[in-house]
Amino acid sequence: MDTLHEVLSRLFPAEQNLVVDQCQVEADSVCLHVFSCTTRQPCPHCHALSGSIHSHYERRFQDLPWGGLGVCVSLRVRRFRCRHCQPTRTFAERFPELVAPYARSSAAVCRLFHRIVVMVGGEGGRRLLTSLPLRVSGDRLLAEQQRVLLPPAQGARVIGIDDFAFKKGSRYGTVIADLETGRAIDLLPDRTGATVTQWLSQHPEVEVISRDRSTEYERACREGAPQAVQVLDRWHVFKNVREALERQLKRSQGTLDEVARSFLPVSPRRRSRLEEAARRARYERRCAEVAQVKALAAQGLSAAQIARDLHRSAHFIRFSLRVEQVPETRHPPRHSQLDPYQGRLWELWTAGERNAMALLRQVQQEGFPGSYTSDLLPENESR
Ligand SMILES: [Zn+2]
Repeated sequence: MDTLHEVLSRLFPAEQNLVVDQCQVEADSVCLHVFSCTTRQPCPHCHALSGSIHSHYERRFQDLPWGGLGVCVSLRVRRFRCRHCQPTRTFAERFPELVAPYARSSAAVCRLFHRIVVMVGGEGGRRLLTSLPLRVSGDRLLAEQQRVLLPPAQGARVIGIDDFAFKKGSRYGTVIADLETGRAIDLLPDRTGATVTQWLSQHPEVEVISRDRSTEYERACREGAPQAVQVLDRWHVFKNVREALERQLKRSQGTLDEVARSFLPVSPRRRSRLEEAARRARYERRCAEVAQVKALAAQGLSAAQIARDLHRSAHFIRFSLRVEQVPETRHPPRHSQLDPYQGRLWELWTAGERNAMALLRQVQQEGFPGSYTSDLLPENESR
């Protein structure tokens, strides 16, 4: 029994001189009855030691689970009398390492809650903890999260402001971060300029504000913190640079194409007979579709009705009604690894081979290094 008591006593912080008096095992929990054997305790008012016991009472709180069992600690707390204080006062002994005053969980459990909330947040933490024999409410974790998230906002010199979504596309708030400590210091209920202005006017210590390109925030910062320097955050600087570069490249597209062409082979590749056949088939199919639209229009159907009947876009119907002669597309064919094998593919195709995998095996035997591609068959055949 002595060994067991020693083990149990070691579970508690050593400097408290705590002794386990009794251990009750129930169906799904263990209850440890604990008391302190220190004879004298310091008075919290005058710090003098007192050994005069006035009374005692029992406190119960949960500790870390043990082998799947919940652990409840029943702590006998003594109330001491301090005769150094005038008039005489009484005080309860404190166990700062073990449990905070009025807390329903031990300090170790509170530290666990804190770590869980930091890692997975309040709601995730609550769900995670349902698998452990620990009693915790969502509110308890939310309070912990609030405490973790929001250290005192006073004294933040360099801050960052950005919006965040409570619900994407519907409700947004504003997060304010202390950029020197890298921590969020406040969450505002919306992202309006008025709210941000109000917050800033209550924090005159702010010297630098990093923000996005929102004109709302720009105005809010100017009005709420005229003393502060506004800077665009790095991400938005790069976004600006990228967009300017894209605009410039788009404007210079013609010149760039010209330069690119000067590096390409002079003569474009000739279309193979197979590709030519495919192109021809596509063109004829398109002519037939346009003719069909024209025929239906001639019968007096509206464009919308034709689009519905043929399952085609309104854009295509308008094009068909407008065009006199369907234009032939004449994009030069791309260079491809298949080029040297086009002749062989034509032979096989005209001989009646319509299986793309069989065609692939044939050209692979002759040295084609690639794998399956839709170019093996004319488009209308492979579909
Ligand atoms: Zn005292």
